[in-house]
Amino acid sequence: MPNSYDPDQIIRPEILALSAYHVPPATGMIKLDAMENPYALPLKLRDEISQLAAGAPVNRYPDASAASLKASLRTALGVPDEMDILLGNGSDEIIQIIAMAAAKPGAVLLSAEPAFAMFRMIATFANLEYVGVALKDDFSLDLEAMLAAIAQHKPAVIFLAYPNNPSGNLFDADAVLQIIQATPGIVVIDEAYHAFADASLMDKLTQYPNLLLMRTLSKLGLAGLRLGLLVGRPEWLLHLEKMRLPYNVGIMTQLIAQTVLSHTDILLQQAQVIKAGRAKMYRRLAELNGVEAFPSDANFILFRIDDARAVFDTLKQRGILIKILDGTHPLLANCLRVTVGTPEENTQFCETLQTILSETV
Ligand SMILES: *Cc1c(COP(=O)(O)O)cnc(C)c1O
Repeated sequence: MPNSYDPDQIIRPEILALSAYHVPPATGMIKLDAMENPYALPLKLRDEISQLAAGAPVNRYPDASAASLKASLRTALGVPDEMDILLGNGSDEIIQIIAMAAAKPGAVLLSAEPAFAMFRMIATFANLEYVGVALKDDFSLDLEAMLAAIAQHKPAVIFLAYPNNPSGNLFDADAVLQIIQATPGIVVIDEAYHAFADASLMDKLTQYPNLLLMRTLSKLGLAGLRLGLLVGRPEWLLHLEKMRLPYNVGIMTQLIAQTVLSHTDILLQQAQVIKAGRAKMYRRLAELNGVEAFPSDANFILFRIDDARAVFDTLKQRGILIKILDGTHPLLANCLRVTVGTPEENTQFCETLQTILSETV
């Protein structure tokens, strides 16, 4: 046995080269960096959850098939009858399951960039080759470039977020459908921000045999529970289901999600309030001199500003945490992303930003 071990000799070089997904500490800050719903559940619902949690048989493994939770999801989300549901510990885990399942030697995972960072990271974890096709300057799909990349790389999987993160826009649905028809592999439409958009491709599932659709409860107000789902034909889900670890969705997640889903109106009402906050915040940002705000169909707004790094740092010093995207993709030069919070948080953010801008002029 050697007396010292060298991780460089054991860990795959592409993993050695990665830096871990960075989650900054946020204690005591106005937290507008992670697209969380800022509202708690109503007290009555929390009481109901306390009772259920107290009675939950935590000494037993959870229901591995989560049958009754799936039934609730089916109703709440309007899943077509012919489609199956696969549950994940957050939709991140579903991305991972799909990537692992498709990771033949040389297989390609393709997305439109800038995209959700986990698409690239998970492709690397799973040993898939990653291809990112740049969006246009206004963050719309470059259909020609996408079709050319599809012809060249014949991707096993394409991931498209609809609305897109970090740009916040919905891609043109016709362009997405053309991509679905042109590709030899599967297309996963990631609708993490569905609650804040007035569009979905759920009704296209029956029409396109290579289409899968992903949702999550995270952005809707249950980020701490970790529950994501994939909707698609049994022919696909049958195989993906084999790779799901048997008890990936815990008993508390199952119980709480199911309880909250019987009051979906509460979450949807919160989403409505967030959408109204988004409209107000967008107008305020667009009015600021030196700020270019991009229209959003999600619960966050991307904007460009001179010296984004300095603005980000100053906001942080003043107790407001948002996300800096400068340096992550050429299209995101000097871009920042702010999550829509409560009206008070939004006002505080806009006023602090305005103050910072007036100081630097
Ligand atoms: C936040 C986000 C997710 C991750 O959701 P979880 O269910 O919390 O893992 C997936 N896709 C996109 C585009 C996101 O922005």
